[in-house]
Amino acid sequence: MRGAVMHGPGDVRVEEREAPQIVEPTDAVIRVSAACVCGSDLWPYRGIEKHEWPIPMGHEYAGIVEEIGDAVTTVKPGQFVVGSFWATDNTCEICRSGYQSACVNRMPMGMLGAQADLLRVPLADGTLIATPEVPSDDLVPHLLSASDVLGTGWFGATAAQAGPGNTVAVVGDGAVGLLAILAAKQLGAERIIAMSRHESRQRLAREFGATDIVEARGDEGVEAIKEMTDGLGAHSVVEAVGTQESMNQALHATRPGGHMGFVGVGHGVALDGMDMFWSLAHVHGGPAPVRRACPSCST
Ligand SMILES: [Zn+2]
Repeated sequence: MRGAVMHGPGDVRVEEREAPQIVEPTDAVIRVSAACVCGSDLWPYRGIEKHEWPIPMGHEYAGIVEEIGDAVTTVKPGQFVVGSFWATDNTCEICRSGYQSACVNRMPMGMLGAQADLLRVPLADGTLIATPEVPSDDLVPHLLSASDVLGTGWFGATAAQAGPGNTVAVVGDGAVGLLAILAAKQLGAERIIAMSRHESRQRLAREFGATDIVEARGDEGVEAIKEMTDGLGAHSVVEAVGTQESMNQALHATRPGGHMGFVGVGHGVALDGMDMFWSLAHVHGGPAPVRRACPSCST
C-alpha cells in the first residue's frame, strides 16, 4: 500500500509500505477515506522535534472498516468510522473519568501512520466510532475533523470553562483555535475574542462565533483583552499554539479566578512560577481526550 513517510525535516515521501494486518484480537484494519496533516506534524517537519527517521505520518483519520479482530464488538466491516489520535481502551479508570488521551493502555496512532491506504487501529472498540450510515463524500472532511482538531478545540474551550455569560479569548487562529471558537459559541459564551492577524481566518472566526478580533500580540494583545473586559481579563482563555509567547499571552489575559485551557503542543515553553502564583488562574490542558466529546459513544 502507499503511505506518507517523513525521512527528516522537510522531507516527506509517499512510498510503498507494508499493508497492516490484525495483530491483536482487539485490532481493526480500516481503509482510510481521509487523513490530514496536523499542526503538530509541523514540529518535526520544521526540525524542531527530533525523531529516529524515517517515521510514518498521520494520526487524524476516518475510513471504512475492512477487518476486525475476534474481540471487537462495536464496529464491523463496511462501517464508516472516525478514530481518535490515541488508541485507547475507553474502559480504564482514567478513560472513564473522561481523560482517554491518558488511557493506561494508550497507543499513539501517529506511530502507525494514518496517511496511508490502510491503517491498523489497536483497541478498536475504545478508539473507533461508527456513523449510522456511510456518509456522502462531501461530509467526510467534516467527520475527519472529529478525529482531532474539533475535539481538541472543544477540549480547549471546556478546559477554559467557556460557558454562558463568559468572555472567552482564543490565542491561535489555526484549525484548533477556530474550532475552540466554534465550541465556545456552542457552549453559550457571550463574547468571544479571536486573536488573529489573518484576514481569511478572521472571517472564519466570525462565522464560527467570534464577536471581536484582536490583532495585537504579546503584552499589547493582553492589554487589548483587558481594555475590553473592564481591566479584568477574560473569564476563559484558550491557548492553541504552543509557544512561549502564546502561553504567556494566554496566562496574562486570564482574569484572577478565570480559566486557561491550553491545547497547543508546547515546545520550549517555560512558565514563570511567580507569574503563575500571582495569576490566580486555573490552568488546565494537554492532549485532548477527543473521545470525551462524543459522550453518547462512551461505553
Ligand atoms: Zn483507558
